[in-house]
Amino acid sequence: MAPNPSRPSARPSASSSSYRRSRRFHKMLRLFMVMVVFMVLTSVLTALVTGGPQRLFGMIQAIATPDAPRLRLNAGEENARIRPLSDDLAEELMAQLLQPPSSDAEAAAAAVLNKEDPIQKFLKKTKYKPVCLTARSVPGQTAAFDIAPDQVKLFFHFNGTTVAADSLEALAKYDPAVDGTCYILLEARWAAQKSWEASRKGLYCFALQYDRPAVFELNGTAFDPGELLVIYAQYLTADDKVTVQSDLPFSPDFAAYGDRERIALVPLSYDLRPGQYQASLTAGDQTETFQITIKDKEFPIQNLTVKDEVAEATRNAASAKEFKGKIEPVLNERDAVLSWSGETQMPVPGARLSTLFGVRRYVNGASDSYRHTGIDLAIGRGTEIKAVNGGRVIFSEQLTQTGNTILIEHGLGLKSWYYHLDERRVEVGDAVKKGDVIGTVGSTGFSTGPHLHLNLSVNGTYINPCTALDAPLLREPLK
Ligand SMILES: [Zn+2]
Repeated sequence: MAPNPSRPSARPSASSSSYRRSRRFHKMLRLFMVMVVFMVLTSVLTALVTGGPQRLFGMIQAIATPDAPRLRLNAGEENARIRPLSDDLAEELMAQLLQPPSSDAEAAAAAVLNKEDPIQKFLKKTKYKPVCLTARSVPGQTAAFDIAPDQVKLFFHFNGTTVAADSLEALAKYDPAVDGTCYILLEARWAAQKSWEASRKGLYCFALQYDRPAVFELNGTAFDPGELLVIYAQYLTADDKVTVQSDLPFSPDFAAYGDRERIALVPLSYDLRPGQYQASLTAGDQTETFQITIKDKEFPIQNLTVKDEVAEATRNAASAKEFKGKIEPVLNERDAVLSWSGETQMPVPGARLSTLFGVRRYVNGASDSYRHTGIDLAIGRGTEIKAVNGGRVIFSEQLTQTGNTILIEHGLGLKSWYYHLDERRVEVGDAVKKGDVIGTVGSTGFSTGPHLHLNLSVNGTYINPCTALDAPLLREPLK
């Protein structure tokens, strides 16, 4: 049988080539679709992974570009090229900020101050989001144009306050002192030149997000036993928790200190063994390790003679039990707000320091000793006693061992204690200011004569009151 030339094993040539073309077209279309899906997925994933600044940067690129040069902005590790706002956006923003536009930078800043957050209002209205860079180390952010402008006006808008400047260098120096977002508005002008026929103007709006690594500051690194270690922390955001690893008995809670800082009080007991200790403080991804030396301090020994009947009546198992039972419950009271500030008020001005802090005391030749937890200030009976600083009275009672006794909580577990009073003039719950009279000097309880026994403690650990009377215990909060 002869082969059939019209066998449909091969299609007519014309229809065959059109079929191949259509198949190729569909194949390419599929490939194109796959590529589009891949690109969309990639950009979505990139946006998810890289987060804010990149996404915002993408948005500003979509805004129409006038013919002014771009601005190169650098904030440490991050940098961006920023296009000026389109003419109508720039006009709208300037209209809100400056009415009428002023050539005087300070007058312009004053105009801005009179309105409530005009940049934020503008951003909300236009749905425009500025390029936002994270400044991890400031000051130091810089900006430069491809063509240097002849005139520059800068406005830094941070926490409702606007600061004006008239040079690009001001950006490098600007430091808002706390973390947060600063909106910056920059207006640049170029005079007519060879390549440009007329003068040009560009308005640039961008944001710097200040997110600096935590900074820890210690009041010292070498201490006598019985002193107070103070830790100040800066640049912590609300969610930043500070964790501490240390071989010191260390359980500080960082509390707010002024507007810019947090503080922790770490009492170093007179029982601490001299030597080298360390403390590692971590906030976010930042860890700093400090070496702390506890010096070898010789505490004096005191042989005290007290009339037998006084000693027996006031220093016995029952009086010790009473003291413990009454005082221990209030030791846990801890106000979250610090009422202590500035210098420490001498509670009895003119008194004689008769017994030092931490002295090892033997009474009437006994073989066992105890530590003197505070200082004795000898002065006549009836002398008024002043509160050493502001706080809240948490104890006011007569006890067998310590006589008329007052305790004041100054916040964060910092307490002052007053013993052997003749008269108590405050009650539990009273708020006292530094220098308020809380009672008078006496010789009640286990005492050999009129004097005030003063303790200072933090979270139940006694610290040396002389240190606090010699110089302020805490430095002023940073402004
Ligand atoms: Zn004493």
